Amino acid sequence: MRATELHARPSADFEAKLAHTQTLLRQAASDYAAVQAGGPAQVSLACSLGAEDMVLAHLINARRLQIGIFVLDTGRLHTETLDLLHQLKESSQAPVEVFRPQTDAVVQFVRREGQDAMYRSIELRKACCQIRKMEPLERALADKRAWVTGLRREQSGTRAEVPFVDTSDARRVKFNPLADWSWGDVWHYIRTHGVAYNPLHDQFYPSIGCEPCTRAISLGEDFRAGRWWWENESAKECGLHVKPHSSHEVAVSQSDTHGVFVSAQADFSAAEVKGSPEPGRSQSEDLKECGLHVKHETPTQGKHA
Ligand code: SF4
Repeated sequence: MRATELHARPSADFEAKLAHTQTLLRQAASDYAAVQAGGPAQVSLACSLGAEDMVLAHLINARRLQIGIFVLDTGRLHTETLDLLHQLKESSQAPVEVFRPQTDAVVQFVRREGQDAMYRSIELRKACCQIRKMEPLERALADKRAWVTGLRREQSGTRAEVPFVDTSDARRVKFNPLADWSWGDVWHYIRTHGVAYNPLHDQFYPSIGCEPCTRAISLGEDFRAGRWWWENESAKECGLHVKPHSSHEVAVSQSDTHGVFVSAQADFSAAEVKGSPEPGRSQSEDLKECGLHVKHETPTQGKHA
């Protein structure tokens, strides 16, 4: 079953949310326009190629907003994700920049630690993410005064208070125009507008990151079971979007009870490893391989502010 059929269930106030999102995107484009005519905008969408970010890319292109788009190609993405990137580059009127890790750093790391070192310890996983994601991200944002993300409040407890416009970082403003959207809203927009999306979503991957660190989930599993599944749940919040010294507790996902999912919001994680499962194997392999990779619950309504 296609993800659009499974998940597209708009909130009662979806149209109001959409209008607000469009207003925020116009504000971002206006407030952070290019310094010189024809130059690059000072604001970009950090596009993970996940469902939310494909919605935002579609909105930016539909309105011809002066907002750039950048993608981090870690070198470990699925073929399906790379195909979607190609599709986006071909169809987008907004410039799409691709940032890749420094070749020397990758070669040295792989030579020293191996191709799949991320399974061995949190330190090695963080080191891999630093080389393949964080350093390219710093380059992508270096000349930006603002950026746009697909963060949503229902994605996790730590994101429950995501503001529409986050000014807490003195370096640049972060716009989160989908902060109050539900997962059903995201897929409603995708279905309504025929937005291209990663076909892995049709194979029960709610969250898609790098190939070695992503898997499909099974009936009853939390959406985070699909990402870094060998690690402690508290290790899975995205370092990209966590404020330094945040005191937020990582809350249990609502997905089991409400059918809420998140997408691949460029999760750069940090924290500890819980156990020592066999590399590449989860603690619930029977469930994972049963084929029931689906949740049928009705998504919750968003928290429209
Ligand atoms: S998600 Fe996995 S493969 Fe991708 S950069 Fe992080 S550790 Fe490396």
